[in-house]
Amino acid sequence: MLDFDTAQARLAERATPASRTETLPLRDLNGRILATDVVATLSLPPADNSAMDGYAVRAADVTPGTTLPIQQRCFAGQAPEPLREGQAIRLFTGSLIPAGADAVVMQEDCQEAGQRVTFSRAVPAGHFIRFRGEDMAQGQIVLRQGTVLNPAHIAVLAAQGLAQATVFARLTVGILTTGDELVAPGSPLPPAAIYDSNAPMLASLCVQLGTADPVMRHARDDAAAIEAALRDLNASCDLVLSVGGASVGEKDLVKPALEALGGTLDLWRVRMKPGKPVALAELHGRPLVCLPGNPVSSFVVFMVLVSPLIRGLQGRHTVFPPVRRGILRSERAHGGEREEFLRVRADTTGSATILTPYHQQSSGAISSLNASQGLARIAAGTLAEPDAELAWYAYQDWLN
Ligand code: AMP
Ligand code: MG
Repeated sequence: MLDFDTAQARLAERATPASRTETLPLRDLNGRILATDVVATLSLPPADNSAMDGYAVRAADVTPGTTLPIQQRCFAGQAPEPLREGQAIRLFTGSLIPAGADAVVMQEDCQEAGQRVTFSRAVPAGHFIRFRGEDMAQGQIVLRQGTVLNPAHIAVLAAQGLAQATVFARLTVGILTTGDELVAPGSPLPPAAIYDSNAPMLASLCVQLGTADPVMRHARDDAAAIEAALRDLNASCDLVLSVGGASVGEKDLVKPALEALGGTLDLWRVRMKPGKPVALAELHGRPLVCLPGNPVSSFVVFMVLVSPLIRGLQGRHTVFPPVRRGILRSERAHGGEREEFLRVRADTTGSATILTPYHQQSSGAISSLNASQGLARIAAGTLAEPDAELAWYAYQDWLN
């Protein structure tokens, strides 16, 4: 059996970043992955300007009680005159600092009467000035290739005057479910059948990671049907995920189908619970991952093994989200032979996170997924006693 960390690394290594790109306007960039570094062509702010509504002065001219004549009133967007000695210029937040001025006194510290202003305090040179280039310096890389763009990044692009950016095309994913017992939700349930919960779950997991809407196929447990579906999905998608039919049961036909198509297949029994049967295959130069059929196993394997591969294929610079630490709250010890991933509720008390395992940890218990906030990890061959400190993977970190 392959240990968990090796399996995770092997999948992530298979990720050759996306190559197709597209150039999109700012309004379409949220959540997309930047395909180039962005270098500042402008220094920002472009000129020294005021951080406050107030008066531009020479700091040396001002002591508490000083009164100076007001030379000019300069509103944002207007160009100030050079400041004459012994005078002050009225200005506002964002107004350019006049040549000769070296400080701004905020209006709360000033009293204006007639055309004169009296200061109630002195200020040091540089006070309330936002200096040219202090935010972004011309020539500096302001956004890195592989960044998942959010509204803050879009503000940076806009501030640089860019109306568009080049991003990687959305990753295309094909999802193949297999099994004679599966029925699509919405249709009646015959005896001995169950609803296909993996297809919709995996499709929404992919979309949440920012892929295109996956191409969905279902095949009966029939070699020819599985082969045909795999061939189609592999031809049209960057990545194929198959679910079920990949262990060693009599109806486990995915492996022979892949081999018949000329794929090379690395089938592992990964030492993890839930999970275990996971395969990484390559067909016509494209990756294909076989996931276990149990919905909880499928979810867990997707999150901790497949999501780094997807992030890499998408061209993201960070493929492994952070792993957090928390304290196990339980009446008994947990753990066993395999790396164990417990579905846990996470409660923050003070600076500690308390991890409480959901009462039902069976790999068939779909309800454990929505009743939890993440997966607590217990190393293979160890027992985690109550109050042990554990690594845990938050859904909010690992499913985005
Ligand atoms: P398999 O690996 O095909 O033997 O599947 C293992 C278990 O997962 C069986 O109980 C299947 O019925 C179940 N299963 C497989 N695929 C799905 C699916 N798409 N949705 C829900 N359960 C599934
Ligand atoms: Mg099956």
